[in-house]
Amino acid sequence: MTTMKALVKTEASVGASLQMVPVPEPGPGEVLVKVMATAICGTDMHVYDWNKWAQGAVRELPRIMGHEFSGEVLQLGEGVRDLAIGDRVAGETHIPCGKCYQCKNGLQHICANMVLFSIDSDGCFAEYTVIPEICARKIPGDIPWEYGAMMEPLGTSIRAAQEVVPAGANVAVIGAGPIGLGAVTALKALGAARIIVSDISDDRLSIASQAGATHLLNPAKEDVTATILEMTSGVGVDSFIDASGSVKAISEGFRYLRKGGRVALVGLPSETISLDLGPQVIFKEAKIIGIHGRKMFETWTVMENLMANGLLALKPIVSHILPLEDFEKGFSLLKDGKACKIILDPWQEGQLPSSV
Ligand code: ZN
Repeated sequence: MTTMKALVKTEASVGASLQMVPVPEPGPGEVLVKVMATAICGTDMHVYDWNKWAQGAVRELPRIMGHEFSGEVLQLGEGVRDLAIGDRVAGETHIPCGKCYQCKNGLQHICANMVLFSIDSDGCFAEYTVIPEICARKIPGDIPWEYGAMMEPLGTSIRAAQEVVPAGANVAVIGAGPIGLGAVTALKALGAARIIVSDISDDRLSIASQAGATHLLNPAKEDVTATILEMTSGVGVDSFIDASGSVKAISEGFRYLRKGGRVALVGLPSETISLDLGPQVIFKEAKIIGIHGRKMFETWTVMENLMANGLLALKPIVSHILPLEDFEKGFSLLKDGKACKIILDPWQEGQLPSSV
């Protein structure tokens, strides 16, 4: 094999094209992976649409798109010691430098010199991809390929769920896209009492219910703050996770958060948000944390434990499995809000879906 199919962002305009390109060679410390399943993320939508964020973030074209994947190690670069040919791996997309203050202090996932797989390097919407050994996370054999491809975003959801200290708590999740839904199933697995989900799409709310939500609220139809306050005897929720990036919804969250509550922010707002710090944060003693990905690799360990014991409801989150060739359909389904998580299959060898 010398060439491969890949979805390439070739020009600074909307779209991408499926091309035959050379199979990449793993350099020192890197591995070549046969991509068995790959998933479309919101970031890929930005790059595909070539919006303002993508124009600032992607500095070099052409670029192979895609960053969420699972696959099999095919070839080892020089000096790779901890992986073997045939290992099943999932991609961690935050590539750390290993030398900065953060990397030396257990915060590799927010490395000061972080390189982002598929933004600063070629990605995985292809038959093969190359990734540094440290970012090829070996996964257990019983994790289906399509779920392996979802581990990167799922890890972000799990991390958010852990940070709000869910056991026995009443937690609100804003936004029932793949990240919010991952948080819902993680909260359930980690023992949250009430899991209240708000989203303007009734379809997504119904998926949230399958993923473990106990209460569904549609802000287009009801007063979320009033309902939550009523539900919690006027106290408010113990915590909320924002996976929407909606300025309006985040501001509202601080109104129904109880005193001493916790907030995990995952969704990226497109504009600056203003908070009345006195009543909404200081007098409340609200604890706010931003979530930028998974801890390397504590979150992965927890995720694997939960998955290995069947504690996460991932089936409802996967809406489509499409051949890589149908990428246009995938992007338009997502754009029209008609899909949840879309898995792309580069091979069509009948290995997907591999879940039972
Ligand atoms: Zn670093």
